[in-house]
Amino acid sequence: MKKIDSVAAFRALRSGLNGQSVGFVPTMGALHIGHASLIDESVRCSDVTVLSIYINPTQFDNANDLAKYPETLAEDLELAEKLGVDYVFMPTYQQMYPDNFSYQVEETKLSHQLCGAHREGHFTGVLTVVMKLLNIVKPDRAYFGEKDYQQFELIKGMVEALFVDVEIVGCPTVRENDGLAFSSRNLNLNVNERKLAPKLHAALVSGLSDEEVTLELNQLGFVVDYIETISGRRFAAAQLGKVRLIDNVLRGEHEQ
Ligand code: AMP
Repeated sequence: MKKIDSVAAFRALRSGLNGQSVGFVPTMGALHIGHASLIDESVRCSDVTVLSIYINPTQFDNANDLAKYPETLAEDLELAEKLGVDYVFMPTYQQMYPDNFSYQVEETKLSHQLCGAHREGHFTGVLTVVMKLLNIVKPDRAYFGEKDYQQFELIKGMVEALFVDVEIVGCPTVRENDGLAFSSRNLNLNVNERKLAPKLHAALVSGLSDEEVTLELNQLGFVVDYIETISGRRFAAAQLGKVRLIDNVLRGEHEQ
């Protein structure tokens, strides 16, 4: 496994990969089993797998959230190697934003709903960094988790709208045994919050209405940003202590 931290070095090695299929898994590190499922899929389907680890500051609407975003680089590299990653791209801000974010990719509808209504500029940061990464890595396929379903839809829409030549592959949400979706931010939950956190998924798959779920979660100690069903999928974001949890489920399928 090779580590690369500059765009120029990555481009030089990418030109040597022509003729091989390239799978790409973009992440912000603090890797867990959810990330591993994306990497496994890429390794299974592509000749070469590229993993990026980059905590993208432009998608954080809150400086404190960025400051306490977990970092576990040594463990990440060990896991990536074990899973069969060929190249890890770990750029700096200067490498990714030579324009200092003066050029941005903005979507004007879906990006303002759900998480976009609560995190100003979040999806513009996400779409801009993903566009840059796709242009650097030039993968045949790029893998994204359905855990961040709104992000997945926006990235699919972006590559269609801008004619980016890549297949965007969605991978199912991987959960702990108690239903909590794996997330790097779970590392910041304290013991009591960790015990409470699975109630978010449990409430989403209950037969309760969006309003009833909101009420129940607020009573349990969450601070709900939104519970909203769109086209048969129920989306949720809620703060638990200092950690913001998001999740989504297809309604009907798992309702209890
Ligand atoms: P992140 O490092 O949080 O930006 O996530 C990198 C990628 O992993 C994104 O495409 C996420 O949707 C995906 N991902 C994160 N958590 C999970 C999970 N529990 N199951 C499946 N995919 C996930």
